[in-house]
Amino acid sequence: MESYDPTPLIDMCEAILADGELSSDEVYRLSEFLNATPECTLHWPGKQLATLLVEVWKDGEISSLELQQVAELLMDIHVHWHDHLAKEHVQIPASLLPGSDIEVPEGFALPNLTFTTTITSFTTGQYEYEIDLKGPSCTCHDWEARRSELPEGHFGRCCKHIISLLNNVPFKGEAKPFIEAFASTGTTPHPKKDWIASQLDGQHIYISSPTFEWSDILVQTNDGWQRYEYNVVESRWAYKKEPSQSKQILQILTQSYTLPGQSDN
Ligand SMILES: [Zn+2]
Repeated sequence: MESYDPTPLIDMCEAILADGELSSDEVYRLSEFLNATPECTLHWPGKQLATLLVEVWKDGEISSLELQQVAELLMDIHVHWHDHLAKEHVQIPASLLPGSDIEVPEGFALPNLTFTTTITSFTTGQYEYEIDLKGPSCTCHDWEARRSELPEGHFGRCCKHIISLLNNVPFKGEAKPFIEAFASTGTTPHPKKDWIASQLDGQHIYISSPTFEWSDILVQTNDGWQRYEYNVVESRWAYKKEPSQSKQILQILTQSYTLPGQSDN
């Protein structure tokens, strides 16, 4: 990947994935972005995206199966990028990380840590981000633009750098598998969503508030973490991809949040 920095493209992919199901408009915007920056298509992940997009646009329209294919590639890109990030840049010696004396947070909450570090970014070292786990806060664009106004301790304050770093910190409690879930799916908690933690058959499940109609759902399975999205207005799963315990999950969702059409009392 020499001097090419895919960060702007990765950020765009993340923004597209962040709000529910992928639309053909969003795929179109992504295609336009690649057309306008041909350099992207010579490298990962633009090359892979361009190849797939040429294929899906061939007949001039995008079926729901094609949308799902694009969404799956975007998620793969995220997981790959996240692994890369974790390997190359958030490798902090264990001796420096906050360790066994970390207080276990009460309930479902981020650990209260005093720890600051700098991450030199990605492929070119062009960007540097300061991360402070108290808050937590970061100096990346995503954090400053979308997450900085949230109250301290809000899960939405976790940008991808904070997720990476927290994933390396050996704290205990309900928020630990929550952070793992985001790290392993290469995603971040949406800044406008709240979360509840639950368990089904001994496996962790995290369900977000249905802000903008979509509830994000992270499910621990024997094959690792899976991410699903459910549209509460249209009562359907994104891309028709449904978790095996969907009935129980929808029950928890309905009990935990006020859904459109339900009264408050
Ligand atoms: Zn950040």
